[in-house]
Order: sequence, then C-alpha cells, then structure tokens
Amino acid sequence: MSGIRPTGFLHLGNYFGAIRNYVRMQEEFDCYYMVADLHSLTTHPDTRELRTNVHRVLSENIACGLDPEKAALYCQSHVRETSELYLYLNMLAYKGELEKTVTFKDKVRQNPENVNAGLLTYPVLQTADIIIHRAQYVPVGKDQEQHLEMARNFVNRFNHRYGNVFPEPHAFNFNSELIKVPSLDGSGKMSKSENQMSTLYLADGDEVIRKKVMKAKTDNGPTEQNSPKPDYIENVFSLLKLVSDKPVIDHFEMAYNTCNIRYGEMKNQLAEDMVRFIAPIREKTNHILHDEAYLRRVMEQGAEKANQSAAATMQLVRQAIGLNYY
Ligand code: AMP
Repeated sequence: MSGIRPTGFLHLGNYFGAIRNYVRMQEEFDCYYMVADLHSLTTHPDTRELRTNVHRVLSENIACGLDPEKAALYCQSHVRETSELYLYLNMLAYKGELEKTVTFKDKVRQNPENVNAGLLTYPVLQTADIIIHRAQYVPVGKDQEQHLEMARNFVNRFNHRYGNVFPEPHAFNFNSELIKVPSLDGSGKMSKSENQMSTLYLADGDEVIRKKVMKAKTDNGPTEQNSPKPDYIENVFSLLKLVSDKPVIDHFEMAYNTCNIRYGEMKNQLAEDMVRFIAPIREKTNHILHDEAYLRRVMEQGAEKANQSAAATMQLVRQAIGLNYY
C-alpha cells in the first residue's frame, strides 16, 4: 500500500522512490495505491486545482506502468472507513511524539500561518491508510522512514490494547535501501513544490529537461586520482545511474577516477538519457489525461476493491475495540 499527494506534477523522486516499486510489486502482491487527496488538504486548502491534480496523478501512475486491472488504484476520499480508523488511532497517538515528527516541524517552518491539527496528525491518517488493508509492505522514498516507524508504534499499541488485528507495516524498496533522489543543484531533494528548477518532472518537455540537466552544479573536476566525490557530483552520478546504461556509467566513473572527466560531456549524455526516459511517460500521460471516462472507470473500480478490503478490516477493528453491543 502506498500513496502520492495530488499537490503538483510528479517528478523523478516520486518515480524512483515510489512508482517504480509500485509497478514491480503489482506482479507479486495484492496492491493498493491511492491518490492521497485528503492529505493534500493539510497543506493545500485551496481546492480549485484538486480535480486536475487528481487526474494528473492517476494518469502519471498509469503512464509509468501501473495497471489498474492488477492493483487497486483509487482516491483516498473514496474510502470513508479510513476516517473512522483514523479516529480510533488518534486515541493511541500522543501529542508529544506527533510534535517531534520531522515532517511536521518542516511544515510548521514553511507555513507558520496554517499549523492545523490535520498536519499534526498526518502520520496517524497515513497509518490508517496503510493498515485499513492490513498492508505489510509500503513502497516509499527515504523521507517516509520516520512515518513508517510511527505507524509500527501505533499498530503495536493497538494490537497490545485490543488484540492482534494488524501486521507491522514496513517501508519497502526492491533494492533493499530506500531512495532519496537529490535535486540538480546539489541542495536537498527533488520535490513537487520546492527546488522546481532543480527538479525533473515527468511532464517536462525535452528542451526543459536539457536545460535543467545542463545547469546541474559541477566543478573543475578532481585533481587527484580516485578522490572522493563532493555531494553535488555524487548527485549527478546518482541520476546517471538511474537512467543510463552500465557502459555509460562505467565510462564516466573511470574518467572521474583518472581525472579525465569532462562534466559538460557527462551532462550532455545525462540530458539525452533523461529525455529518452521521460518523453514516452509524458506523451502517454497526456493521452490518458484526455480520457475522463476512462479515469472515472479506474477510480470507481479502484474504490470498489479498496472499500471491500477496508470493510473487512473495520469489522475486525470494531469487534476488537468492543464496539459490538448487540
Ligand atoms: P509526495 O510527493 O510527498 O506525496 O510523495 C510521494 C512518494 O514519493 C513518497 O513515497 C515519497 O517518499 C516519494 N518521494 C518524494 N520525493 C522523493 C525524492 N526526492 N526521492 C525519493 N522519493 C521521493
């Protein structure tokens, strides 16, 4: 189970941190993937763009290879029972631990005018989203590690207090390590809202991709053989490893280690490989976005599967808590 907020255009971080794993997991697991529209309300109270953004996230997921026939692809707000589970879990979550959450502190810093209770209890709703399907594996990027740890705490508290209903959820990545896709300027990560000129979006046109890649931060190159790479150079290599073929990566690694690297050449290659990777996803997305009838069918079908799974869990939950009076 996993989700993406409909707060803007999806980027390479979303793809390599999350969606790539979604697509592989759908072949082996019973998967639930949602557009986290309720979560987006914590930071984006203006809903004028919501419908467009929800359609975009659905389309981009499908364009990346997610198959709505194999996995349940649905909107968070279409599964009403999650809100009920969220309420029960709120009694098991403590103010102190919620206030210490790194993402909460970041969001307070970014937007001190709108420190709402939904923002504080974001990890609780996220836990409800996951465990409503009694999910065990949660494909997410590295930024979600702490939220998953909190989810396990809430689950263990619930199971301890009311009996074993939920398995412990764990963050999941096929390559075993969770990923953080860095931004092109070497500071921070790719993101829907920050670092936009240093983030590669799945909707970016070929020329925009080339321009962004060519502006990635580099330097004059190493002066000693086999020297460690500064962070921003490591970032460019990380991106190359995501989209380029092995001989290309080996060539530039060797050039770096022997002090023969020409970053202009490396960035040109990276830009072309990026264009080759992103262009087909962008074109497919635009095609799907225009088919509103299809998107509606996807949402309905996804909601049906997700609601079935949620209803089964909630029966167990109400029983376990003791809300069964007749
Ligand atoms: P969000 O865009 O915050 O709704 O996140 C959706 C998914 O993408 C989550 O699983 C995040 O962990 C993942 N994600 C977002 N940004 C990055 C990034 N720069 N690197 C890796 N994963 C990311």
